[in-house]
Amino acid sequence: MKSVDAHLADILATVRTLAPLELELERALGTTLAEEVSSPVPLPPFDNSAMDGYAVRAADVSGVPVTLPVVDDVAAGSDELRAVGPGHAVRIMTGAPVPPGADAVVPVEWTDGGTAQVTINRPVQLGNAIRRAGEDVQAGEIVLKPGTVIGPAQLGIIAGVGRRRVWVRPRPRIVVLSTGAELVEPGAALRPGQIWDSNSFTLTAAVRDSGGEGFRAPTVGDDPAVFLDQLDAQLVRADAIITSGGVSMGAYEPVKEALSPLGTVRFEKVAMQPGMPQGFGVVGDDQIPIFALPGNPVSSYVSFMLFVRPALRKMRGLPAGPPETVTAYVLATLRSPAGRRSYLRAVLADDGTVTPVHGQGSHQLAALASANALIVVPEDTTEVPSGTSVQVIRL
Ligand code: AMP
Ligand code: MG
Repeated sequence: MKSVDAHLADILATVRTLAPLELELERALGTTLAEEVSSPVPLPPFDNSAMDGYAVRAADVSGVPVTLPVVDDVAAGSDELRAVGPGHAVRIMTGAPVPPGADAVVPVEWTDGGTAQVTINRPVQLGNAIRRAGEDVQAGEIVLKPGTVIGPAQLGIIAGVGRRRVWVRPRPRIVVLSTGAELVEPGAALRPGQIWDSNSFTLTAAVRDSGGEGFRAPTVGDDPAVFLDQLDAQLVRADAIITSGGVSMGAYEPVKEALSPLGTVRFEKVAMQPGMPQGFGVVGDDQIPIFALPGNPVSSYVSFMLFVRPALRKMRGLPAGPPETVTAYVLATLRSPAGRRSYLRAVLADDGTVTPVHGQGSHQLAALASANALIVVPEDTTEVPSGTSVQVIRL
């Protein structure tokens, strides 16, 4: 049997980082920056008021209370500024440019709020409530480096330096294709022998959760020809394909039957539990990676976490490797088959303890849904006594 690490290494050696493209900001969330972003101007571009109040000369309000004539009103966006002369005040709003002559802003709360004249009750320090030009970013300064994942704040600074479009590595487009003659669309009635398709929902959501764009293709039955047709139809819009089901040792394994003859997809036994049968390779003229995951719901999800998620990181241009683990203390005795790495569904608590959930079968999706972690039991370990420290993958 092939080791989990060797299987992941093969996958990461095959999958390629997506080429950069220029996107409108509206489409850039969750993508990876592929250029250096710098600011053409200082930010803020001009000295401006941090508060609503009065622009004054600080020396004029050293003795309080003092009453000054209000000679002008400046709102944010004003471009006609009258200078503040000695003994004068100008009413000013947050974000408005500080008029020449003024060297401090008195918050409105320290005054009577007058409009023709204002009585100021507290002295003010030089520079008070003035946001200086370039205080956030100097002209020409780099604000974001390539390889940064664009979240809301990163999108904000890209817009904030005046950019409309940005070079990024896009979110990988991943098509999820479930197979199984027994599968019925959720919402439809079950006939004897049928189950509702859950994997395509889990996997599409897992793709989105991992920074990709997940597309759920129409589910197909167990006919390899129908599977190939659907695969062909989906290839045009995919950076990678995930299939579920039809890869194990039985009869009616459409994915294996359809893809094995191509010679570009390998079906192997990987030394893990759950999820031993795994297929991986490339398909189509563009050599699109395909992950042929086992059909059992827990197996397909664990396989996604171990193999597809790191591959998605590589496609996005991010450092990619096995899932991160944390150390925890297990509160039950664990058993694991010799020669296979186990991933036991568990609840990791804030106090650093971890407890396996009831129901470790690879079909037990409800148990998976109650878990927030996987306990990793190494290949050569068959029993882990309660109280031992273990490695845990957060879900
Ligand atoms: P297979 O890998 O096709 O042999 O399927 C293994 C098990 O997983 C069988 O019990 C299937 O009914 C179940 N299964 C396969 N695909 C799905 C799916 N999309 N949703 C839920 N269960 C599935
Ligand atoms: Mg099947």
